[in-house]
Amino acid sequence: MPEQHRTDALWVVVPMYNEVEVLPEFQARLTRVLDALDLPARVLYVDDGSRDASWALAQALAQRDPRVHGLKLSRNFGKETALTAGLDAVACAENVAACVVIDADLQDPPEVIPELIARWREGADMVYATRRRRLGESGIKRLTAALFYRLMRRLSATAVPQDTGDFRLLSARALRALAGLRERQRFMKGLFAWIGYPQAQVLYDRAPRAAGTSKWNYGRLWRFAVEGITSFSTMPLRLATWVGVLTSVLAFAYGAWIVLKVFVWGISVPGYASLIVAILFLGGMQLLALGIIGEYVGRTYLEVKQRPLYLIEDSLGTVAPQPVDTA
Ligand code: UDP
Ligand code: MG
Repeated sequence: MPEQHRTDALWVVVPMYNEVEVLPEFQARLTRVLDALDLPARVLYVDDGSRDASWALAQALAQRDPRVHGLKLSRNFGKETALTAGLDAVACAENVAACVVIDADLQDPPEVIPELIARWREGADMVYATRRRRLGESGIKRLTAALFYRLMRRLSATAVPQDTGDFRLLSARALRALAGLRERQRFMKGLFAWIGYPQAQVLYDRAPRAAGTSKWNYGRLWRFAVEGITSFSTMPLRLATWVGVLTSVLAFAYGAWIVLKVFVWGISVPGYASLIVAILFLGGMQLLALGIIGEYVGRTYLEVKQRPLYLIEDSLGTVAPQPVDTA
């Protein structure tokens, strides 16, 4: 069991974006779970620039329950960044035993938290909750998700556990390690996997959203996938090289074959079709390779600018009002 003071608390970080419809039910279910725990708990709502009354609601919840804390970001930065803001705040809070990350839409059941804690007490630094089944999600979404995880496993050196979202528990040590990763393009699943330490898995059934709509669409999922792959693998760059090598070899072989034909049989070959095909194919390959390079160059550019990851507009409770951006 990790060393722990009696006053050390479990923090629950909840990123939320326009979640006013589910928040009361979420808070009620979470409170029921936290009340039954044998360690003190704190909840940190991170409002990711909601345009509805989510923040006002969080303020009301904080008045009723002193365990509720909050951070309001200056605009919508995206879930990954909202999560980072919350984890940063917890990393610099005092007496942190461990930290749970959970979605506000009740797709991650709070009732699983005691199981996460049990595995953490057995010595795991990172306990991730893996969905056994995804209820209420379309076949296509499930298929694309499965393909993505398989591709990630193939491409990247850091193994990202399959079918695992951000719902998980981090020990204080894992939290500190994560706070040290300051890259701007944040693929949280990969960052969680990158830090290592003993890990454990808990299985659960993922429920459909309790209310409201998913903030994800396919355009967003595509960017997310590109983010994941480019942040954790330079394989596409190498792939471009190999495609280049392969086409050169083929072109050389074909050239040799034509020369041979002309000299041995004296046939002059009419070659409009093959010419066009070769030009188009090579043009396409070049643009593709340029595009891949562009993805990486663009990411380098974003890192180099060294902007803070997020800005905080307001806070509730005792959390640090400013981000601990050391960069
Ligand atoms: N979320 C956020 N910022 C965003 C989008 C989503 O903080 O820009 C929060 C959202 O409120 C929820 C969690 O991230 O608590 C997961 O979002 P969602 O349910 O839309 O994603 P899905 O479950 O469909 O992957
Ligand atoms: Mg959801």
